[in-house]
Amino acid sequence: MIIVMKKRAKQKDLDSVIRWIESVGYRAHLSKGVERTIIGAVGDERDKVRLKAAENMSGVEKVMPILQPYKLASRETKDGNTIIKVGDVAVGGPKCIVIAGPCAVESEEQLMETALVVKKAGASMLRGGAFKPRTSPYSFQGLGEEGLKILAKAREETGLPVVTEVMSASDVGLIEAYADVLQIGARNTQNFALLKAVGLAKKPVLLKRGMMTTLDELLMSAEYIMASGNDNVMLCERGIRTFETAMRNTLDISAVPVLKDKTHLPVIVDPSHAIGQWKFVLPLAKAAVAVGADGLMIEVHCNPQQALSDGPQSLKPERFIKLMEEIESIANIVRN
Ligand code: PEP
Ligand code: MN
Repeated sequence: MIIVMKKRAKQKDLDSVIRWIESVGYRAHLSKGVERTIIGAVGDERDKVRLKAAENMSGVEKVMPILQPYKLASRETKDGNTIIKVGDVAVGGPKCIVIAGPCAVESEEQLMETALVVKKAGASMLRGGAFKPRTSPYSFQGLGEEGLKILAKAREETGLPVVTEVMSASDVGLIEAYADVLQIGARNTQNFALLKAVGLAKKPVLLKRGMMTTLDELLMSAEYIMASGNDNVMLCERGIRTFETAMRNTLDISAVPVLKDKTHLPVIVDPSHAIGQWKFVLPLAKAAVAVGADGLMIEVHCNPQQALSDGPQSLKPERFIKLMEEIESIANIVRN
């Protein structure tokens, strides 16, 4: 249920409504907008009618059901967009941000070289996997903690916040100690134990859409993270499985405006994992910015032929620089 407070409600009214919500076994989630304050009462759906009684409390304007199955992620419970601060970077604000870097951290030299390139080209954050979810157990699995240390060093060198994947609930503490954003990969979108674990973390989460998840399922996964206490979730469309075999996945470009309509959370697009071929990354990146993506995630490698993972979709530095230049004019049109 959503409890909408009167415009002139006092702080003590707000406090007593929150106390009451908690006393009847719900979690109170406060959203203070410019226009009005909304309190989401989140918990067992079966006896939500009890919450109607809040209509008699001082300062309460009305009590309404939240219609969507996802509550905290829904636009119904929050005025305006969520803006997630990662260091100096604001995700979901006026600027379309770019997260760039190699698929995997392979060595200090490789990451440092790429980090400097993407920084110079204007990227806002650095990406790189230290724990890699590979289809084959014989493929490069990532450098593990050594990779995290290299990422932290690259942050020191460039000032770019780092995004890296967490594959298991038991690794969350370790990764949180090094990274600025915790990435949940497409293969773990519905790993609910992992979602609950990152929900307890203090760092923002980049939640990728699984290759077989609907948008409502993706939003329910975001809800798991938020219901555990972490409101800083960015969603990421990275292509889904369809009957088409000409591409690695099919980028669901329509997911962007539809998600932006359903949720206040920022939406990022990863054209690299969607298309799987470097030469199509630029047009898809442009399309993503044009439909309103709050950011892009782009794989960049200084020597893609030698990459230990995802070389075919990785942009060489000069192609990444071109991408940054070309998306700027589109971002200027659609985000102003
Ligand atoms: C990645 O970003 O490194 C990755 C493995 O992506 P996805 O989970 O979308 O396949
Ligand atoms: Mn990759």
